[in-house]
Amino acid sequence: PENTSETPDEARTRHEELSRDLDDHSYRYYLGNPIVSDAEYDALMGELRAIEERYPQLISQDSPTQKVGAPISVDFAAVEHLVRMESLGNAFDFDELNAWADRASAEVPVDAYLCELKIDGLAVDLVYEKGRLVRAATRGDGRVGEDITLNIRTIDVVPERLDESVRPAPELLEVRGEVFLPVEAFEALNRRITETGEHTPFANPRNAAAGSLRQKDPRVTATRPLSMIVHGVGAYVPAGGGENGRPGSEDVAFTSQSQAYALLGEWGLPLSDRYRVVSSMDEVRAYVSHYQEHRHEPDYEIDGIVIKVDAFSLQRRLGSTSRAPRWAIAYKYPPEEVTTRLVDIKVGV
Ligand code: NAD
Repeated sequence: PENTSETPDEARTRHEELSRDLDDHSYRYYLGNPIVSDAEYDALMGELRAIEERYPQLISQDSPTQKVGAPISVDFAAVEHLVRMESLGNAFDFDELNAWADRASAEVPVDAYLCELKIDGLAVDLVYEKGRLVRAATRGDGRVGEDITLNIRTIDVVPERLDESVRPAPELLEVRGEVFLPVEAFEALNRRITETGEHTPFANPRNAAAGSLRQKDPRVTATRPLSMIVHGVGAYVPAGGGENGRPGSEDVAFTSQSQAYALLGEWGLPLSDRYRVVSSMDEVRAYVSHYQEHRHEPDYEIDGIVIKVDAFSLQRRLGSTSRAPRWAIAYKYPPEEVTTRLVDIKVGV
């Protein structure tokens, strides 16, 4: 909220207070134990951003507006990502969405947007070497995540080996995606937890997924029917690459988000069948409106829509800020009554 009568000292004090609170909320959130709703968190972040717009000298590298995620916990080994994992910028209405599209189009000739559901789960990173899953990690602070390889191996849809029936697996493939608990599985889990008195029920599927994935004992994770959908690529070295005399003709380059998805699908990675490639912002807005009305059609919770410039060459040209790509944006749906109410319940991990 605008408060132009504040003194610079007041702004600094409020900035410190908000930064501390936001860091604390992030830490709890990534453990699966938030104490405020996402909308409340977003409102505090909005207030912090507004202060930084009035007092740019308060922006430091350490500000919550400039960082991704939260520091990792000591319960897991640290893993450095091959390519940094980012967050996403937000739009809360069509004006903000259009402003993002205008900024992108002013810089590069955007001819196609990929629209997909913003799954309310946890970001994870999978590394395949010569087609074998060798490591899985949480996003962490974007640079370093937590090693959750054994837990990820319990997820049925995550292939241990890439399918090579259509084309050879790449030398190296780092993919990003969302781990989530389908709504029905979440409800069944909470019924079971309540019956057995294991611990307090989870407030929502996201917290349940975060709590389940970050178990120290992967046998516990194995009892939670987690799922995953892939939505990005990090490091990539194509097959062949001259090694072991393999012919380079098997090489395949990624040219766009949608073409990458087609290849990832051939390798047996779990993809959504709800993404669409469109050529105009009218169609983007129609997609956003459609799922705002049919938000509960998917069997998992979504908190918005992600819109990406499809061509990788344009993504590279648009680049990133310190925490988010300029070539993508998250359109956030308004919070739902039921979620904000449930967040008030004390939750367990
Ligand atoms: P974000 O959730 O707004 O967006 C980035 C994330 O979206 C990515 O990391 C990715 O995992 C995910 N995502 C889902 N579907 C995707 C798709 N199709 N393509 C690409 N990415 C997709 O940003 P964030 O940095 O992860 O978290 C910030 C948000 O988390 C806040 O806006 C707030 O809603 C919530 N949060 C809540 C609390 C709390 O205490 N309630 C604390 C911290 C953060």
